[in-house]
Amino acid sequence: MQIPMVDLHAQYLKIKEEIDAAIAEVIQKSAFIKGPFVERFEAAFAQFLGVEHCIGVGNGTDALVIALKALGIGPGDEVITAVNTFVATPEAISLTGARPVFCDVEPGSMLLDPELIKERLTEKTRAIIPVHLYGRVASMDRILDVARQYHLKVVEDAAQAHGARRHGITAGAFGDASTHSFFPGKNLGAYGDAGAIVTRNEEAALFARQYANHGRSTKYGHQFEGTNSRLDGLQAAILSVKLRYLERWCELRRKHAQDYTRLLQDIEGITCPEMPEAEQHVFHLYVIRTPYRDALRKHLASKGINTGIHYPQIMAELPAYRQSAGPPEDYPVAAALRSEILSLPLYPEMTAEQIESVVAEIREFYR
Ligand SMILES: *Cc1c(COP(=O)(O)O)cnc(C)c1O
Repeated sequence: MQIPMVDLHAQYLKIKEEIDAAIAEVIQKSAFIKGPFVERFEAAFAQFLGVEHCIGVGNGTDALVIALKALGIGPGDEVITAVNTFVATPEAISLTGARPVFCDVEPGSMLLDPELIKERLTEKTRAIIPVHLYGRVASMDRILDVARQYHLKVVEDAAQAHGARRHGITAGAFGDASTHSFFPGKNLGAYGDAGAIVTRNEEAALFARQYANHGRSTKYGHQFEGTNSRLDGLQAAILSVKLRYLERWCELRRKHAQDYTRLLQDIEGITCPEMPEAEQHVFHLYVIRTPYRDALRKHLASKGINTGIHYPQIMAELPAYRQSAGPPEDYPVAAALRSEILSLPLYPEMTAEQIESVVAEIREFYR
């Protein structure tokens, strides 16, 4: 049986009529840039998070850059983030002129460790970017405590966590701003690149909206230099359709994750991801840990089962950050995790049979 990591086509087939109609309507009205479809999605997504302002932008990386700029982050500043994220997070920090400062993670959650943030602070530190990696919300209560104590801004990188909650609060509703990627494979994915910034800060929202649209306030009234990073009408219309399914899809992801854990937890040599009661982990990725990661991955590939590694290197190991980040040994938890993590196939449309096949092959390997 061939089992992919995600199956976007299976999802499309389930909502084909609505998607096709939404695309046709945008084309019919030629509402490609800005316009009613973008406004409708922005309002719906803001409401989904329970936060006032949503600004659609070109992608999740731009969302991070613009959110940081909107909060006044720039040259000379330092921004602390998790060392085990996707490169877009530190890349965005650098693009503002600020410097990314990496921080190790908690062994259980694999997310930014609030205790260690304090060790990374200098007088240049201006902000923290917690990354809700794999679909689980970072320890926001304690991160916000540190931020308050040291007067730092908090921008949540919620690219992988649409619909996740912690103590009832939605991912992206904790910080000064949050950023969202609608890359096709994300939990809420467009049919191309797309992203958004969400914030309660009216001034930051206004700046972000103008910055993403050439700094303009009117057609040719450019208040300052910005860029072109807009959510387009087709993507917005598609996202509006898919947003209505997001809760259901998150439930399915959680159910599949529970099934995996139930079926895998007795295998010695495998650690399943935590699923705490007070949290709604939405499993953008279901990441197990095993010392036999590479051999297991090879075995599964030989049976047609695709897996992933998110991510094969911590940021401190990348050529781009090797100089500035210090040696990987400075990040012992993430450095150890990165050779043990394996992402199993998981998407809402997966069948019980597919999950059982993956588990059967894993059992076969450990036998
Ligand atoms: C996908 C992702 C991004 C970047 O989003 P793009 O839309 O691809 O630019 C940023 N951070 C994390 C954690 C991501 O997973």
